[in-house]
Amino acid sequence: MSDTIYALSTAPARSGVAVIRISGNSAEDLLLRVFRSKHPMRNREMTLGTLVSPDGRALDRCLAVVFRGSASYTGEPSAELHLHGSPAVISAALDALGRAGGRPAAAGEFTRRAFLNGKLDLAEAEAVGELIAAETREAAENAAAMLSGALGRMLKPAYDAIIDLCANLAAEVDYPDDDIEPLTVPRALDTLFHVEHLLENTLDRSDRARAFTEGVRTAIVGAPNAGKSTLFNAILGERRAIVTDAPGTTRDLLRERATLGGVPLLLTDTAGLRDAENEAERIGVQLAREEAASAELVLLVLDGSREPTPDDCAAPEDLSTAAHTVVILNKSDLGIHPATREFAPDFLHVELSATSGDLSPLEQAVHSLYDAGDLRFDGTLLTNARQRAACSSALDSVRAAIDALRSGLPTDLALTDAERAAARIGELFGRGAAEDVIDRVFANFCVGK
Ligand code: GDP
Repeated sequence: MSDTIYALSTAPARSGVAVIRISGNSAEDLLLRVFRSKHPMRNREMTLGTLVSPDGRALDRCLAVVFRGSASYTGEPSAELHLHGSPAVISAALDALGRAGGRPAAAGEFTRRAFLNGKLDLAEAEAVGELIAAETREAAENAAAMLSGALGRMLKPAYDAIIDLCANLAAEVDYPDDDIEPLTVPRALDTLFHVEHLLENTLDRSDRARAFTEGVRTAIVGAPNAGKSTLFNAILGERRAIVTDAPGTTRDLLRERATLGGVPLLLTDTAGLRDAENEAERIGVQLAREEAASAELVLLVLDGSREPTPDDCAAPEDLSTAAHTVVILNKSDLGIHPATREFAPDFLHVELSATSGDLSPLEQAVHSLYDAGDLRFDGTLLTNARQRAACSSALDSVRAAIDALRSGLPTDLALTDAERAAARIGELFGRGAAEDVIDRVFANFCVGK
């Protein structure tokens, strides 16, 4: 029998409404010790009433709902209090619930109970956390679909096929002389190739989707006064960075989220790359170099209206590690100097004027670099390290089983690999994961979820 837990499930801040969740066998009893209503409460129906302190003082006029039996998020009796979102009311309500015998929930405890009660599989539980943490619309879409079991629906047939295969291989190993229908190697290989393809495709799509689900780490770099901060502001559509004629103004890294050409960016404006004139600027230049080195996309800004300077020429050395670099010939309103078109010729060039605000050439370039193509954010994209690791280890085992069968090794070797693959696939969507894996999944949650 589980004890009865409670926690604030909405943000701990002043807001219109705050929701406190209660879950456990005595959820309704606990609720009724702090909530009074004129009419008896009905299952799954909101009731208007009063939140009261242990000594009977009214604390809020609010709503409450009970979910009896197992038809609730956690799969056990639950209740919710919908209060006015005042920090004072929230803290009084939490205090009243504690005095009435409830226990404050640990981080992720509601979702953990949902998982343990069979309401969610592991990927669905992770999807709850990822939906809440989603920073892009694409990430939210994928998490919402995963929450409805999309990953399990895709993987279950492959899992079942491998389990069948294992049963057949095991029969061959255990009763080699019996008259059981032998599983022909080509049929077993067919199954394994099919699963191999599915896993490869899942990993590949998930990799390509990362730009959209996480955002592309993007650094704006270039010589002082090239127009980096102007471009940064233009991409954000607001004045965030200081723009001046004086070189060396930006020293700290400025980070913002933005969308460009439909691609979510984690954008950083950096100090101009040049020989610094003082300590603060020197640190700024160093940070800029580090940022460029760790970025996936570098936007190298050049004053396109004049010949490249030695400062400009120093920049490309910082860029060799980025997956993509776009050279921006800025200030096109002043006319483009032909020499800038020859600059860093290995990289994609766009010409624009950041002050004009028309960024369409850059939008097109970014869009073409991170083309979502046929990607669908349908809940079958793996979005965390645990899922990716389980999928690639399943793929390794499937390939090992294929090799074993192809090279005519004893059947029990292929069987071991196939069983390992099944276990890894099961871990992705199933409930068979080890306790420490489960602990790690829920460690990422916050209280109230
Ligand atoms: P940063 O040092 O690279 O961040 O450059 P800023 O964004 O501070 O810009 C330096 C100067 O160039 C400022 O006076 C800007 O107004 C000017 N500037 C930036 N972009 C353009 C542009 O597209 N056209 C023109 N004419 N001036 C620009």
